[in-house]
Amino acid sequence: MARKIDSYDVIVVGGGPSGSQVAYKLAGMGYIVGVVEKKATLNGDICCTGLVSRECVDKFSIPEVVIHRWASGAKLFPPSGKPVHVQRDTPQVAVLNRSAFNQIWAQRAKKAGAEYRFGCNLKGVIHEKGKVTAEVSCRGQTLTLQGRAIVIATGFGTPLLDNLGLGAAGDFVMGAQAVVETDIAEVEVYFGNQIAPGFFGWLVPTSPGKGLVGLLARRDNPFYLRKLLDSLGAAGKIASADVKMNYGGVPLKPLPHTRGDNLLVVGTAAGQVKPITGGGIYFGLICADIAANTLNRALTADNLSARALAGYERAWRRKLARELRNGYLGRKAYEMLNDRQVSRVFGLLESTGIIEELSRSEELSFDWHADVITRVMGQKLMAKTLNSITMPFSRKKTAGSAG
Ligand SMILES: Cc1cc2nc3c(=O)[nH]c(=O)nc-3n(C[C@H](O)[C@H](O)[C@H](O)COP(=O)(O)OP(=O)(O)OC[C@H]3O[C@@H](n4cnc5c(N)ncnc54)[C@H](O)[C@@H]3O)c2cc1C
Repeated sequence: MARKIDSYDVIVVGGGPSGSQVAYKLAGMGYIVGVVEKKATLNGDICCTGLVSRECVDKFSIPEVVIHRWASGAKLFPPSGKPVHVQRDTPQVAVLNRSAFNQIWAQRAKKAGAEYRFGCNLKGVIHEKGKVTAEVSCRGQTLTLQGRAIVIATGFGTPLLDNLGLGAAGDFVMGAQAVVETDIAEVEVYFGNQIAPGFFGWLVPTSPGKGLVGLLARRDNPFYLRKLLDSLGAAGKIASADVKMNYGGVPLKPLPHTRGDNLLVVGTAAGQVKPITGGGIYFGLICADIAANTLNRALTADNLSARALAGYERAWRRKLARELRNGYLGRKAYEMLNDRQVSRVFGLLESTGIIEELSRSEELSFDWHADVITRVMGQKLMAKTLNSITMPFSRKKTAGSAG
């Protein structure tokens, strides 16, 4: 029978991609790692489309077995006018089977030695004599787990962070999604305030005959998703609009603080998400590795004070702060456009050749948007179109502090 340990080097809270990545890394380094996950299993529906770049797949060796398919292009539908086609020569984006990905990531961490406790909800954290005690509710029982450090990787909307004095994400958006039957072959993205106020909607083919219809929107997600499903049904793009909806949220700004004494916050819980697309898997994995390396140094030195863990905060902000800041400014600029202006922007992107040029250039990345945003906003005609809402964009390559 497996040994039940109530005391760990590191307690990881959340068995999503970020939590399992930290657990895998630390267990592989020889630490005793416990993962606490509030869901009873990892094979349920997840409100996430699962799009990640080839860069992410390669860097983290995501196996083909959890990839539904690859996409090399997408059709972008402005509020009016014909769709704009973005196409690359080689497939750039993988559509992950999100539930299979979570399971395989957890299995990998378990194989490395991490212990998972499912159906266990973290209720509170107490600091005592350089250690942390986690109060966990497990299927009606209260457990007390001890750790030298705790990693919070609980995804979107954890009240715990505020309670721990780490603040809350400065801005967020809610999303909704449904699994549908569809035969479309290409990713479609829909823009306009009548479709998804402030953001966009999508239809993404996944496994044969199936797809995901979803949106991120500033308000009324159920209403707008229903409307989108109905219109896609009427257009014959999906078989039936009578489907179950899932809901989730995405932070658009990082937490003010992502570390404390004996504590790090990683992934979507920390706001490590692309504000342009709402994608958080890749940035979460990047930051999970940074967290594991920082913890390794701190555990070795036996100094887990907030000060000793500052390297985590510095390193992830150095890597991502400019992306998060410029992405957020680009997002806010977009949100200020009315549908006519959005259509005009799309028209300009095509007529000025920006789309075609970007399609061929390495600059058009699924993950790194800061340079493209700066470039598009700096384009003369574009600036004229947007002159009433032009925002201050930095052209500097170096990272600043996160917004
Ligand atoms: C509609 C929608 C579409 C999206 N599409 C994409 C996409 O295409 N590509 C992309 O990269 N990102 C996408 N995202 C974002 C992506 O889902 C997240 O960024 C990603 O899942 C973050 O991983 P994580 O491990 O940080 O958090 P999560 O995946 O949210 O995992 C957190 C885990 O912690 C557990 N947990 C929470 N609280 C507790 C607690 N108190 N105790 C114990 N366990 C707890 C949860 O059950 C969960 O399993 C989308 C989000 C939405 C809402």
